[in-house]
Amino acid sequence: MELSEIYQKKSYGGVEDFTPKISFEVFPPKNGDISNLFEELRILKRYNPALVSLTYGANGGLNRFSISDMKSIRDLDLNLMPHFTCVSMLKDEIEKHIVSVENLGIENILALRGDIPEYINPNELDYKHADELVELIREKTTLSIGVAGYPEGHIESKNLKEDIKYLKLKVEKGASAIFTQLFFDNDKFYKYFEQVRNLGINIPIIPGIMPVRSLKQINKMTSLARITLSKRLLHALEKFPNDTLKIGTEFAIRQCQDLIDFGVVGLHFYTLNHSDQTAEILENIL
Ligand code: FAD
Repeated sequence: MELSEIYQKKSYGGVEDFTPKISFEVFPPKNGDISNLFEELRILKRYNPALVSLTYGANGGLNRFSISDMKSIRDLDLNLMPHFTCVSMLKDEIEKHIVSVENLGIENILALRGDIPEYINPNELDYKHADELVELIREKTTLSIGVAGYPEGHIESKNLKEDIKYLKLKVEKGASAIFTQLFFDNDKFYKYFEQVRNLGINIPIIPGIMPVRSLKQINKMTSLARITLSKRLLHALEKFPNDTLKIGTEFAIRQCQDLIDFGVVGLHFYTLNHSDQTAEILENIL
């Protein structure tokens, strides 16, 4: 099912359905063995995900799902949205990849520029920004396109206003939904939502939720991107180092409940391939 259809507001007997659509992000296991991931996905499938998104070489790495991995995961009867970054490929390879994704019968793709590795001169890239990739995907395929959004601004952008201006370009070139970077302060998301809408961007905005498992994880994430840490969460994690999983889960439950009250159309979970924590959160919010 395509992104615009997934996030379309539905009503039953004249009553609007406010249940958010659930999606999960997973990454390729580092040892290359995807059988463990299958187990996690079978558990997550119980929560009827509208989408499962598959990262592409995240954290600057080369760890990627192959086309045959995508086929095996799709065969679990899951609606997929593979991610794709254009920084490390030439135009021909990019075209070949997106057409292969479409040929698998997959309907969605998350179009990203990716982080530019130090050894690459950005001026020499065939595709310098995600909007150009969106344009190419729109031209060459019928895939429905998701793009990344940053409630606190992308780390390279001068300010949030400029970042949203470029987000608009991605939407004008054919994106159908925005999936956000993780955040801990919902007020930042609500302000972002308002600014995006005020600029005339009307496609669904899906907040990205990363349940915290450890202090190390949260420190790593916030050092890589512009993300404000919740002082309350940080304090609890430092004070109770043996309970970080429980603290992270409870924080995520409260965060999701607040977002649902706000009326988000979806919740996108960065599962880090751990179905247990995501499942516990869902048991408490759905
Ligand atoms: P862009 O939209 O191109 O933006 C990058 C920067 O350039 C921003 O500062 C923006 O303001 C600016 N900009 C955009 N367009 C223009 C323009 N036309 N002219 C001038 N400036 C412009 N990374 C991975 O490697 N693999 C993944 O699987 C992955 N998944 C992700 C999933 C989500 C939901 C999110 C939010 C991020 C993900 N990332 C992933 C990280 C992402 O690749 C990085 O944040 C990357 O640095 C930017 O990618 P982008 O698509 O947002 O780039």
